[in-house]
Amino acid sequence: MSDPVHHAGRVGVSRSITLLGATGSIGKSTLEVIALHPQYSVFALTANSNVALLLEQCLRFSPRYAVMVEEPAAEQLARALARRDSATRVLAGAQGLLEVASHPEVDTVMAAIVGAAGLPSALAAVQHSKKVLLANKEALVMAGDLFMDALAQSDAVLLPIDSEHNAVFQCLPQNLRATADALRAQGVRRIVLTASGGPFREWPLEDLHAVTPEQACRHPNWSMGRKISVDSASMMNKGLEVIEACFLFGVGPEMVDVLIHPQSIVHSMVEYADGSILAQMGSPDMRIPIAHCLAWPQRIASGAAYLDLTRQGALHFFNPDLGRFPCLRLGIEAARAGGTAPTVLNAANEVAVEAFLKGDSSFTAIPAIIEQTLAQMTCRKAESVDMIRQVDEQARILARRLIQRH
Ligand code: NAD
Ligand code: MG
Repeated sequence: MSDPVHHAGRVGVSRSITLLGATGSIGKSTLEVIALHPQYSVFALTANSNVALLLEQCLRFSPRYAVMVEEPAAEQLARALARRDSATRVLAGAQGLLEVASHPEVDTVMAAIVGAAGLPSALAAVQHSKKVLLANKEALVMAGDLFMDALAQSDAVLLPIDSEHNAVFQCLPQNLRATADALRAQGVRRIVLTASGGPFREWPLEDLHAVTPEQACRHPNWSMGRKISVDSASMMNKGLEVIEACFLFGVGPEMVDVLIHPQSIVHSMVEYADGSILAQMGSPDMRIPIAHCLAWPQRIASGAAYLDLTRQGALHFFNPDLGRFPCLRLGIEAARAGGTAPTVLNAANEVAVEAFLKGDSSFTAIPAIIEQTLAQMTCRKAESVDMIRQVDEQARILARRLIQRH
């Protein structure tokens, strides 16, 4: 097996890439990095429904396959590509995602679909021993035990795209198996995830219930998709990331701390027994972790601005206020509970964030709905993907009912 901190197996320069979620924020940044380096070729691009952008990307990168999850969108894309004599073949539906994630000619899969919808294809890429670049943190949060078991049983290499986990990965000792004992044996004392604190870090608490989707999506440092922008504003993103770190690095939540760092220059840190802290720094630009994972274990240009520390102001660090950010508390509690608690947390959060983005629910209802959903479901050991699916579905039904009552 190979995993994020166990450097074994087939690595080196990756060539043939499937990009799941090509039309999203991570997808577009990935294509910008690929465009700088002719040694990478795009095997497949996928999207949910954005025909215009996927068409443009197909014409520019000439993938063998394009997948549109929504059938009418797939038909529209196929017609538009045919009119331009494109050789790209169009597949439709979620089955198409599995095909291009597991195709024998694919070396590398970028998993950049947002939310639970990304789990089956990310898991298929692991099961087919791909080099998997994981942006889709929800897949790991909802099914972490099964995902990591599949990794252990395969020759896949899992590399974290999430900037904090990518930073931790860069600061951890190399050639190491990812377990708490192995990390401690190498003198790792704790992992410190940094968080910007989002746009509402200093807002009056009494104003938070009236926050609009536009305000929540206006992140001070990062430009991202709408779901993760809301997660960043509520700090559920950091809660999900604590869980993600536990699975990726094989540690319990007691080894993972969170520090607010509003400048987003230090992307995360690892503290060692001797008092050393290794930190990874850089401009807040996702092309850096994307380029790092694409080329790993080598390094390539990402297109991001180089950091000029002489022009960078002071860097600040604070402890998070769990009263202001109940979603972070809920994430940490779910990490401690384990089993299906993170599955329920993730499902309820997806439902609550979607309702907030649609204007059907308030910003402050997000943690309330998640907490009530968690309270109504018993946390069990995650035995199979089918069971995860059922728990996910049940949590969504409960969360939707709670929203109607709010
Ligand atoms: P986004 O909303 O910008 O893009 C999402 C992509 O997923 C799109 O290509 C969309 O077509 C596709 N998609 C949406 N629903 C789908 C479905 N049901 N089936 C198949 N495809 C579907 O999101 P993003 O900001 O690029 O984030 C993608 C993932 O990366 C998320 O899990 C997010 O947490 C993670 N991530 C993002 C950032 C960032 O800076 N944007 C940073 C770290 C991690
Ligand atoms: Mg992150």
